[in-house]
Amino acid sequence: MSVSQLARAIATSPTMKLNEEARLLRERGEPVIHLGIGEPKNKAPIPAILGAAAKLQTGDIKYSPSDGIPSLKKAIIRYTEESYDRIIAPENVIVSSGAKQCIFNLLYAILNPQDEVIILAPYWVSYPEMVKMVYGVPVVVKPEDGTFYPRMSEIERAVSSYTKAIIINSPNNPSGVIFPDEFIAQIVEFCERKNIYCIMDDIYHKLVFDGRKPPSCFQFTKRDPETTKVIAINGIAKLYGMTGFRIGWCVAPRQLVEVMTNIQGQTTSCASVLLQAAAEGALLGIQSIVDNLRLHCQNNRDIVMAELATLPGVKCTKPQGTFYCLPDFRAYMHPTVAKNSTELADFLLKKARVVTVPGVEFGFEGHLRLSYAGGVKDLQEGIARIKWAIDPSSPNDIFIGDRKLLRDWL
Ligand code: PMP
Repeated sequence: MSVSQLARAIATSPTMKLNEEARLLRERGEPVIHLGIGEPKNKAPIPAILGAAAKLQTGDIKYSPSDGIPSLKKAIIRYTEESYDRIIAPENVIVSSGAKQCIFNLLYAILNPQDEVIILAPYWVSYPEMVKMVYGVPVVVKPEDGTFYPRMSEIERAVSSYTKAIIINSPNNPSGVIFPDEFIAQIVEFCERKNIYCIMDDIYHKLVFDGRKPPSCFQFTKRDPETTKVIAINGIAKLYGMTGFRIGWCVAPRQLVEVMTNIQGQTTSCASVLLQAAAEGALLGIQSIVDNLRLHCQNNRDIVMAELATLPGVKCTKPQGTFYCLPDFRAYMHPTVAKNSTELADFLLKKARVVTVPGVEFGFEGHLRLSYAGGVKDLQEGIARIKWAIDPSSPNDIFIGDRKLLRDWL
């Protein structure tokens, strides 16, 4: 079949692929534990459901303005003021079908072919592919000291006259770390001085632990909403566990919003009005769900850290937010088990029926990303199974589902 060179070069989303594999295995009755998935298990908040239901009942389900329904944009303006102490106008907001589409529209709006975008490893899997999809060049900067914290000097070295944007995702998927304020301040100052867009993917900004205040992406810009280089991406997926509703938004200078609106107008027209009504309900409704989710994730973070500590040789930086961690499994990468993170993730799925995501997908070979968004029982059993599969000092047999399995490969 004839497909374009560009289309051929775009990798499958590994997390989407793993979700599908897990679904097929579950359909066959396999007792799969999913530590790969990036979504909490909670039900959508009632105000979101009521918002969408009320809209549905009117039967008046039509196109909305391309940049979003005015009442949702109003709720986003309020959210931006409350969360970031930033006053913006409706013209600074565009609503899209998920934060993912916002990022894609934005990259499409700002990149010429061969323009470069700095991406900090470990990074969210979709950034490099999206940059490539608009004929840009992803330039990955990986901390030389092996930590998850990038340094300004490393970024400066990677910047060229082609650099159009730097993407910052803190709290970070996949590592769960939050970048220090000083680093964010430096990067914002640098971008504004060099005329480079600073894209703040803030999708996890309220999922922060240990009494920390959610970081604010706008805190360090000295410019107004029309001249700033800071662009914020946010959405309801992680904030309220509403991943399937597919609503995200972007806050940017109005000229950029106009261009993104044209792009959206010529592709999807607009995000669904029904789902925009749900998003508005969630944003205006009682916010205790966000706290509950945050506490659930913090509690699970503590469990995952305690369980991983029982695996000799595995090192894990303690997450300060999100529902992911990125432990270092290099101690278990040897020919008997697996040579790299892809083989290890395959091995764990095959032997222990546990889904994890290979670190190589996030630019961090030797690691696995584990999601602790789900239930405590799954988390504990999932790590117990991993331990059984790779740690020779753990007991030789285990029950997986109702089958007793013996380990005979170590
Ligand atoms: N950015 C990051 C860092 C993410 O982890 C995700 C979802 N996994 C997204 C953006 C996309 O969010 P949405 O579901 O709203 O498209």
